[in-house]
Amino acid sequence: MDSCDVLIVGGGPAGSACAWALRNRGCDVVVMDKAAFPRDKVCAGWITPAVLDELRIDSREYAQGRVLQPITGFLTGTIGGSTVLTEYDRTVSYGLRRCEFDYFLLQRCGARLRLGEAFHSARQESGEWFVNDSVRAKWLVGAGGHFCPVARQFSETASPNDAPAPVILAQEVEFEMTDAQQAACDVSGTHPELYFCRDLKGYGWVFRKGNVLNIGLGREHETRLSEQVAAFCDFLHARERIRFALPTRFHGHAYRLRTHVPRVSALNVLLIGDAAGLASTHSGEGIRPAIESGLLAASALIGNGDLETVSARYAARLQARLNMGHVAAPSHWLPSAARIWLGQLLLRTRWFTRHVVLDRWFLDSQKPALMT
Ligand SMILES: Cc1cc2nc3c(=O)[nH]c(=O)nc-3n(C[C@H](O)[C@H](O)[C@H](O)COP(=O)(O)OP(=O)(O)OC[C@H]3O[C@@H](n4cnc5c(N)ncnc54)[C@H](O)[C@@H]3O)c2cc1C
Repeated sequence: MDSCDVLIVGGGPAGSACAWALRNRGCDVVVMDKAAFPRDKVCAGWITPAVLDELRIDSREYAQGRVLQPITGFLTGTIGGSTVLTEYDRTVSYGLRRCEFDYFLLQRCGARLRLGEAFHSARQESGEWFVNDSVRAKWLVGAGGHFCPVARQFSETASPNDAPAPVILAQEVEFEMTDAQQAACDVSGTHPELYFCRDLKGYGWVFRKGNVLNIGLGREHETRLSEQVAAFCDFLHARERIRFALPTRFHGHAYRLRTHVPRVSALNVLLIGDAAGLASTHSGEGIRPAIESGLLAASALIGNGDLETVSARYAARLQARLNMGHVAAPSHWLPSAARIWLGQLLLRTRWFTRHVVLDRWFLDSQKPALMT
């Protein structure tokens, strides 16, 4: 039987950030993931620079042999409506490929890896976890993403009063463009394009990262997502942003938005990243909260105290972090038709687009990097 201080189930950004911080403090950590890496993850692959700072990643070093597209502006608007171009005088974001980024983080985290091994069962005995009857650990960290099996087991004991958070359903496609396709693509790598649905319940994006193109659309509570995605592709063709036939097979995934801070810890189990449903309400950014929750879980585990103290410490630190600089969506007091009308109007203005949509909601620029 293998044994460790902390077993992390899931080797995405949340799991590997947590493992990296624990290993830096000398903990014995095992990361278990059902996938063999490198593996892909359905994602646009957009991150804010704080992510690199928080993990002490040198952007030049990361870019050696990997895609790291600097972003210095955005083209935004509504699907079918007018657009606004916003420029910055610095790099405000990066585009990357999740197949590369997640593999890089996992390799550098320093934990013992059990890849290609799915979590099946966890039982507790004398205060320790026995996972799959093959690994023994004092602490179990659920980092298995939206369908995390640890979170599922954990939620069976959660309070029935825990309100369900909104689920975003999204589809995307990512592919390397041929030379002819690159010439027929007007989307610029430095200026990704974001187009809100006319009812403002989601948005579509086009990200170009070098010769890689990523197109997708995510919406809340959507039952006819494929139709919305097809209409979005038609719009991109009609606007001549892309003048070649797009792949018809998009990949789908889901994630929860954090409308409130959910219950994330119990006696000797902590949930991080999508397993806890932490993606930003306005932008759907999930990588930064996944990494920050992983770092905060590690810092809580490293401190002294009994199980209850560690668990409460993580929950309190996460809550404080997520609430920092939080800005509510405007005009919830308006009836929905008026809200949509106002939202569409605001999205046409340069001021609202730069200061609210981009700086506050998408770039979270009021929140400094978390240095643990
Ligand atoms: C279409 C789409 C686009 C997105 N675009 C962006 C974006 O551009 N920027 C951004 O910040 N966020 C984006 N997000 C959100 C972001 O992808 C997630 O929030 C982020 O991946 C969460 O990281 P995580 O480590 O919590 O989970 P994941 O990255 O999902 O990793 C979970 C890991 O757990 C493993 N696992 C699952 N089940 C088991 C099991 N039974 N046993 C063992 N291992 C298991 C999986 O193999 C996986 O490796 C997007 C999401 C979608 C759906």
